[in-house]
Amino acid sequence: MRYIKAVLVGLGLAQLATLITTVYLHRTLSHKSIRLHPATTMFMRVGTWMLTSISPREWVAVHRKHHNFSDEEGDPHSPHIEGYWKIMLANVYYYRREASQDDTLEKYAADLPHDRLDRALFKRGTLGFSLTGVILALVMGFKPGMVALTTLASVYLTLNAAINGAGHTFGYKSFANDATNLKLLALITFGEGLHNNHHARPASPKLSAFDDEYDPAWPVIRLMEKLRLAKVLTKAEEGWEDHRRRLPERAVLNPLKGISIADANAADANAARKSA
Ligand SMILES: [Zn+2]
Ligand SMILES: [Zn+2]
Repeated sequence: MRYIKAVLVGLGLAQLATLITTVYLHRTLSHKSIRLHPATTMFMRVGTWMLTSISPREWVAVHRKHHNFSDEEGDPHSPHIEGYWKIMLANVYYYRREASQDDTLEKYAADLPHDRLDRALFKRGTLGFSLTGVILALVMGFKPGMVALTTLASVYLTLNAAINGAGHTFGYKSFANDATNLKLLALITFGEGLHNNHHARPASPKLSAFDDEYDPAWPVIRLMEKLRLAKVLTKAEEGWEDHRRRLPERAVLNPLKGISIADANAADANAARKSA
């Protein structure tokens, strides 16, 4: 029973880490579609540090470069270039490889210099994650605490890999870009699984585009707005139709054949883009 509870705690923390990633690292910092109240920002910074050990400056730089070169040479983590399983199993390696490049950080995250708090504390990502481990061990006991911590890390990393790998390989497309939409993945990644929509309108604060899609982070963001903890800066509902371009209505990729179909679709999408 203690271990079941530990796994549930780990899953809950992984969901919280995923929510912080999409709202703060992704929609707020990378694409500037939301502005956060200073108190919310501090909560997000501490959460990022303690649950993911990610440096926001690095995450934003790698992510913006991914948008700049999506599935072309220069994309830090493309399953079309590296191979699907390499991204699914070693996403963190590709992330680290890019995040360690000073010129990437300077070019893509010049607007996010480290402040005093970063230099003193948040830059030390391992310390934040270790602190979470210590707290979990003190509250739950050493072994269940480590089970919760391991669950948090493995689930969080797997979900991120799935967005970058499966989210550029399987699923349906509503827009002419190389990413794909996976509704099930969206439900467990606070909307990030609607990755084809996201690549069509990166600055949209909401990742669902049509009525049959659901972005679980959106009601959270709206609630934060009501509580004055956040402000949405860009349009959420309008503009999707303009991005549909000339892609056949809801092209569906075959999960059994995967990437070859994805490539065929990407070729179609490129052709559509050129003739548009
Ligand atoms: Zn992508
Ligand atoms: Zn993005």
